[in-house]
Amino acid sequence: MPDSKKDIERKKKDMIEKLKSGELIAHAGPPLASHEFFWEHLSRIKYSNDQYQPFVQCQLCYEILSYSISNGTSTISSHVTNCLDKSNQIKKE
Ligand SMILES: [Zn+2]
Repeated sequence: MPDSKKDIERKKKDMIEKLKSGELIAHAGPPLASHEFFWEHLSRIKYSNDQYQPFVQCQLCYEILSYSISNGTSTISSHVTNCLDKSNQIKKE
């Protein structure tokens, strides 16, 4: 059974709390062998014991996004592209 949408939302909130408490760490930097531009704006989420979680945090809007290697990077790359567009628009105004 895949996680329901509600479960994922709850997990994301839980992640934000754990990041605040220091139980989880937002680790900047791409996974090994990945050099794609959007990793500059994403941090991977891990426990202090180096256990990576299937989530990343956008450093532009601080939103938690689901990420797993098997799902590919199209969701997170399009998120970063959107966020960059938004921040560029703000600068122009
Ligand atoms: Zn974002």
